[in-house]
Amino acid sequence: MSDYLIEARGLSKHFPIRDGLFGRSTGQVRAVDGVDLAIRPGTIFGLVGESGSGKTTVGRTLLGLQPKSAGEIRFRGRDLATLSKPELRALRPRLQLVFQDPYGSLNPRIPVGEAIGEALLEHGLSSRDELRERVLEVMAVCGLAPYHYGRYPHEFSGGQRQRVGIARALALQPDFIVADEPVSALDVSIQAQIINLFAELRERHGTTILFISHDLAVVEHLCDDIAVMYLGKIVETGPRDALFGQPRHPYTRALFSAVPVADPDARRERIVLQGEPPSPAAPPSGCRFHTRCPQASDRCRDEEPTMRPLDGTHRVACHFA
Ligand code: SF4
Repeated sequence: MSDYLIEARGLSKHFPIRDGLFGRSTGQVRAVDGVDLAIRPGTIFGLVGESGSGKTTVGRTLLGLQPKSAGEIRFRGRDLATLSKPELRALRPRLQLVFQDPYGSLNPRIPVGEAIGEALLEHGLSSRDELRERVLEVMAVCGLAPYHYGRYPHEFSGGQRQRVGIARALALQPDFIVADEPVSALDVSIQAQIINLFAELRERHGTTILFISHDLAVVEHLCDDIAVMYLGKIVETGPRDALFGQPRHPYTRALFSAVPVADPDARRERIVLQGEPPSPAAPPSGCRFHTRCPQASDRCRDEEPTMRPLDGTHRVACHFA
């Protein structure tokens, strides 16, 4: 039995670039390119990086919402590609996605209680008789009151709608949730409530969560393990304390240097990266970060660094870190 709930090995997702007139493929956007990830059950795994680094594509591909181009995804040690159609159908409700703003996925004409219950009926996880009770239970876990059951999406604030989105995912009793920037559209005061809700899901219900975010302060507060992505690749991964305490990759160091620290003695020197990330349709040779790395040498331009272990599960892909 695997120690991990979800594992990805060599996971890639490439999107064809099509010629406008004839729809011929003229190249590929290598959004995710050979990613290895291993997420322990009952933990929150943070996936961070600038926009366009491939974080969302990793989440959606892990959930099977889009087909992978290459690599392997394992759930409880089993390669998903080897599952039969009925096995995959049974697995589907156990893997859920929470969006940045669930408003777009809620039907404005359906009260939220019914919206939460819809999926339960669809997957045969509740009878009609028990449905209301099951929905009220999961609403309570997410901090929603019984009187919210009959209300419509437009009657909710952003934070409450996010609770509805989480309740919809939780109703199916998932083993694994991908939460894609789930707090970035919310006011700071509401963010804290939703972050606490994710922490409670882990502590009380043992839910495993992939938390995709560009907010490093939130990731430092919430996540157990972290992976840093740059241009479709993971450049550093490991336990939260190792990454925030001793970031080794020059990109991680620059990214984390912007996170505010309460202790003035522990203040990090701010490293400002020059330039924008290159296009994933034409990634640089060698180390993909070499066009922006303050420590780049000739070797970095010619040779791609492989991921190597540092201490325990802390790993880095850099020739010199
Ligand atoms: Fe920088 Fe070279 Fe390390 Fe890449 S391999 S991060 S360019 S020092």
